[in-house]
Amino acid sequence: MPKTLAATPTTDIDPFTGLHKLPQALADISLLARQQSSTQTLGIVSLFVPPSPALYRITPEAGHHLRAALSQRVMRALRKQDRLYSVSNWEWLILLPELVSAAPLTLAMMKVRTALGDAFETLDGDHLQLDAFCGGSAWPDDGDDPIHLAQSARIARLHAASSGSGALCYQRHMDKTEAGQTRFQTALQQALSGNQENPMSLHLQPQVDLTSGACSGAEALLRWQHEDGNAVPPHHIIAALEKLGLRHSFTRWLLNQSMQCITALTEAGINIPLSVNLSASDLLDVELPDLVMQALAIWEIPAHRLLLEITETMMVEETPQVTEVLRRLRQLGLTLAIDDFGTGYAGMSYLQRLPVEEVKIDQRFVRQAVGTKRDREIIASIIQLSHRLSLKVVAEGVENQETADMLWSLGCETAQGNFFSPALSLEDFIRWYKRKQVPAT
Ligand code: C2E
Ligand code: MG
Ligand code: MG
Repeated sequence: MPKTLAATPTTDIDPFTGLHKLPQALADISLLARQQSSTQTLGIVSLFVPPSPALYRITPEAGHHLRAALSQRVMRALRKQDRLYSVSNWEWLILLPELVSAAPLTLAMMKVRTALGDAFETLDGDHLQLDAFCGGSAWPDDGDDPIHLAQSARIARLHAASSGSGALCYQRHMDKTEAGQTRFQTALQQALSGNQENPMSLHLQPQVDLTSGACSGAEALLRWQHEDGNAVPPHHIIAALEKLGLRHSFTRWLLNQSMQCITALTEAGINIPLSVNLSASDLLDVELPDLVMQALAIWEIPAHRLLLEITETMMVEETPQVTEVLRRLRQLGLTLAIDDFGTGYAGMSYLQRLPVEEVKIDQRFVRQAVGTKRDREIIASIIQLSHRLSLKVVAEGVENQETADMLWSLGCETAQGNFFSPALSLEDFIRWYKRKQVPAT
């Protein structure tokens, strides 16, 4: 690939600058980081041109022309091996491989700002002076997660703008947090590393076959209590881990714990598949399929025992990277499910295109379905369409017998919800399963 311009037009390319967008940049950070020698550093620079009255006054066409000219100038200031990406209209990301240390990062940012110092000629022949701010982060000093590194560069760029210095390298204190927040983060970090009295764990919620009443699977749900004794909602935990740059460690932990659960279930004679929830940024991680493959191999678990849930909203930005990650996961023999279906914007056409085998109807429809005709009709049409596409349907959030009966009458084969059981610790789940298996006398 040339250092800037894309060879083929895809949806991942900004049509006005010809530059790849953020998902490609994140994939390239992973790739380039692996290619650096032990003495080399990879620099990541966030470049931003803040809005100004003059910039707001130009036409969209002149804006595109200006962005292309600005990109060209930046490219000329870069070395052959550097890469430039378009993040949004007035934001760019630059990757600088093979740096001898983090120090040349500041020099590179100064060079870019100098290149943008002269006025730009607009389409109308006017001359426009632009401001530009840069923030830099460095692999491996500032972390190894591509998203975290890009975020750190952006945070440094915010400080560069507010401090008036124009270009700054990331430092930890730039993530200013409240004292309580820091305590929470420290506790979370300790919980993830497992050396705490109160570690994170996975609880299992059964999925029940509505025709036979048998347990046909389970979903692994994250559980962690804060020091005040309150359960922290999983979404809150995931968001905090992402902020700390610990998504990679968490995904490894999650896969490892899931494998332990599957092994313990097998040892107890329970050979059901386990569904595991992925986070949105997992799908941007080109290393995820390898990570999953290694986990299955180490634990000697067949791929059909693991099911990965992705939510519909994760797929809204359907990029070549995301599609590739999903394709490789399917290639490993894993089943993919769309979680919380019906709540996103993606719509039914996604079902046709994505390599998924299961659809989980969001509990918001299910919980009101008995009393609300409209929700019942939405459920009925999701079931019909899914079956036409040979997809399995699971309804979530079933809280009573009436709802289970209604779902069964609509043709839904599997259900999950507190009516059958809430999520249970592994030991309690095994006990619950065995109790259910005892034939009635
Ligand atoms: P989800 O994957 O849709 O999980 C179902 C949620 O509904 C769970 O909430 C579950 O406890 C709850 N639930 C199940 N049955 C009922 C019911 O009958 N009534 C009601 N009111 N709620 C029910 P939870 O455990 O709080 O998880 C919330 C979300 O957090 C999950 O939604 C999932 O998106 C995310 N999450 C949970 N564990 C993980 C994890 O390990 N990794 C990632 N990335 N996300 C996770
Ligand atoms: Mg789920
Ligand atoms: Mg769900």
